[in-house]
Amino acid sequence: MAVGEDTRALVVYGPGSDRYDFGLLHPLTPRRFGPGIGLLRAYGADRFLAPEPASDAELARLHEPAYVEVVRRISADPDGPPERGIGPGDDPAFAGMHEAAATVAGGSLAGMRAILTGEAVHAFHPGGGLHHALAGRASGFCVYNDVALAVALARDAGHRVLYVDMDVHHGDGVQALFWNDPAVLTCSLHETGETLFPGTGRVEERGGPGAEGRAVNVPLQPGTGDASWLAALETVVPALAEAFRPTMLVTQHGCDSHLLDPLAHLRLTTAAYRRAAAVVDEVAHRWCERRWLATGGGGYDVYRVVPRAWALVWLAQAHREPPLETPLEWRARWEDEAVRWHQAPMPEVFLDASDLAGPESPAITAANARIVERAVAGFRARPG
Ligand SMILES: [Zn+2]
Ligand SMILES: [Zn+2]
Repeated sequence: MAVGEDTRALVVYGPGSDRYDFGLLHPLTPRRFGPGIGLLRAYGADRFLAPEPASDAELARLHEPAYVEVVRRISADPDGPPERGIGPGDDPAFAGMHEAAATVAGGSLAGMRAILTGEAVHAFHPGGGLHHALAGRASGFCVYNDVALAVALARDAGHRVLYVDMDVHHGDGVQALFWNDPAVLTCSLHETGETLFPGTGRVEERGGPGAEGRAVNVPLQPGTGDASWLAALETVVPALAEAFRPTMLVTQHGCDSHLLDPLAHLRLTTAAYRRAAAVVDEVAHRWCERRWLATGGGGYDVYRVVPRAWALVWLAQAHREPPLETPLEWRARWEDEAVRWHQAPMPEVFLDASDLAGPESPAITAANARIVERAVAGFRARPG
């Protein structure tokens, strides 16, 4: 470690983070920041960077300027007609939408910039990970693709970027934005598109001409539990890193794969998130000289699941073991709110009991193993 190097994990969060808000009843709620950042602080997180909006030029690296114009217009007049995926449904218009979404993008760019300049080796942007946004369209709660913009910034600085998406939904936007780029390898583990939005992410999706094998997809069965999800991650990700030799790692830690999550059908526990964060940390150290930007993502049980999932990413970046129990004062602070939103009680244990989800059915385990085999065979066939 260099003399004077600040190895404290950097957390990208500030007042601007809370402004990305589709309204009171939308599942992707800024209410998650209170208990989520509160838990990080309780464990000693003390190095924060407040995100600022990305510029139009920065957004234009991946987004169509005409789309940014539409978002700006809707942002100023949210009562206009639906356009480009923004309107009634997943991505309702709200006043200030452009500034809020540009601030999420700016947060991931700032985290990446801190890594590129050496100010940080690990950075975490819990409000980031809006992986469904496309070049010219909002999708799945995502307006601008902050995490893809961060990948592009690293790529333009000469890095070979490995992107690992652990959200329960396929990382379709990031995959599409780098489909033809051999310098970026996108890998997504998700619930199969046969049962879940956005419907893509089949094993056969492997990258465009000149970038064959640079997209890797592991679509898992509904009902998948910790054991076979971790088996997939531990089989695929280290082997991919060894074959691709990335110099930058970017990860998306959506925690909507949890058993308690209301929007999807996997059955993970926080024990899997802890192991996953350790696996990707090891990749960052082994291949990327520790350069690692992590983002949040989906996660709709915002009291029982999201805070612990975020804390596990931060603890992994701080190279610390999770404590056995969550802090009493933290639980007491958020208990009433959790009750009001029917996501109570606040969890006492940090790592869910291993039997929380019950055993996975042998049929699911076998189906997942076959998918992993096909995903691995796909990238083994195209090395280098
Ligand atoms: Zn590390
Ligand atoms: Zn998701």
